[in-house]
Order: sequence, then structure tokens, then C-alpha cells
Amino acid sequence: MNSESEGGISRRNFIKSAALTGALLWIESSSLLKGAEAMANPGSIFTLPKLPYGESALAPVISPETIRFHYGRHHAGYVDKLNRLAAGTEFADLPLEQVVLRSAGQADKTAIFNNAAQIWNHTFYWNSLKPGGGGQPSAPLKDKIGSAFGGYSEFRSQFVDAATGQFGSGWAWLVSEGGELKIVTTSNAGVPLVHGQKPLLTLDVWEHAYYLDYQNRRQAYAEAVVDKLLNWEFAEKNLSA
Ligand code: MN
Repeated sequence: MNSESEGGISRRNFIKSAALTGALLWIESSSLLKGAEAMANPGSIFTLPKLPYGESALAPVISPETIRFHYGRHHAGYVDKLNRLAAGTEFADLPLEQVVLRSAGQADKTAIFNNAAQIWNHTFYWNSLKPGGGGQPSAPLKDKIGSAFGGYSEFRSQFVDAATGQFGSGWAWLVSEGGELKIVTTSNAGVPLVHGQKPLLTLDVWEHAYYLDYQNRRQAYAEAVVDKLLNWEFAEKNLSA
């Protein structure tokens, strides 16, 4: 083994232990994510934010088994991958949101963008859900939903249609753009932030989000989440942020 590869191994070990320390500090300092501002990365190493509830809290709409794979493998996997990709680059010291914005649309930064955006999207997704959620938002968001879509039930059907109609992997979003509410979808790791839209809520429609619980029935997953899990308080905080 030459000295260069020894250096590589010790650097990786250092990154691993630093990431673990960072994750523990992050968990200690933030028992609950509070709105989009909590998504800024506090240090130079990217960490997996704590789930804002227990892994069984969303059952039966989303099973603990789905959470274990989705959060514990997929979301965590994006964090591990970004830490490997960003080490030693200009992205290593940036807050996560800046990594997303600065790598977007750059052909040679696709892997960095995909993994950073997926960390951001998944953290936003977990916070878009809560046990005992769903139903209608309170004013003033309720009024804005009314003027944008014609009423809550129209919003519900348009959001479910958008989620169900997104071809392949992606995300359905409620966003605010120029003060107006809109439903948009993004493919793969796409994120409305890079289009100047302010995300309020999101629904992950990658198959890994629902296949264990709903198999191919994406619409049933979307309806159940909208009716029973959407976290309107999170949307209200994002709207006023
Ligand atoms: Mn996902």
C-alpha cells in the first residue's frame, strides 16, 4: 500500500467520524425541525436530520417498514453519497441549500445536485407529514387555497392528480410563487427552489415512498397522505417565512 492510498483511507475515516459527531450534535441541538430554516446545514459535513416523529407514528398510512427503508436507507444514503462527492470540493463548506442552488443545472455537477437535492427534498417531505395531519388548513392559508384552486376539495383533487400523473420518479409540491399558490411536480431530484418557487408542502412519489404499503397504487397513497398526514402548520410556517 502506498502512502497516497493510506492517506485516502485515513481521510475517509476522519470524514466518517466527523459525520457521526456532526449527526449527534445536530440531534442534540434540534429535537424537532422547525420550518425550512432548520434545513440549513450547520457545519461543513452533511448530516441526516432527525426524523420529527417515531418510525411508527405515521402508521397505518405509512408503515414503520417503509420509514425504515425510506429514511434509514434512501435518505441516509443520499447523505453518505454527498459526503463522499463533496469532500475536498468547493461544496464541502456550504449549507445544503447553497449546494443545491449552486450545483443546479451544471452538467458536471449532476451527482452533487442529485444527492444534495434529495437530502433537502426528503427532509422537507418528513416535515410535510405529521401524525393526525390532513384535513383543511386554517386561515389565512385556507383563504389562499380557496382563491388559488376554488376550494379545499378542488385543491385536494388537483394535488392528488398531479402526484398520480407525474411520470416516473419525482415529487408533487404545493408552492408559492409571486405570492400565488400553485401545484407543481418535479422529476427525480428536482426541487422548486431552483425555479424561484417557495415550497410549502411536498409528497414523494418515487416508488420507494409507497411500494411496500401500496404496491402500484400511487393514487391510494397520495389520497391517504393528503387526508391523514399533511402538516398544514408546516405549510403555514413556510408561507410566512
Ligand atoms: Mn424518497
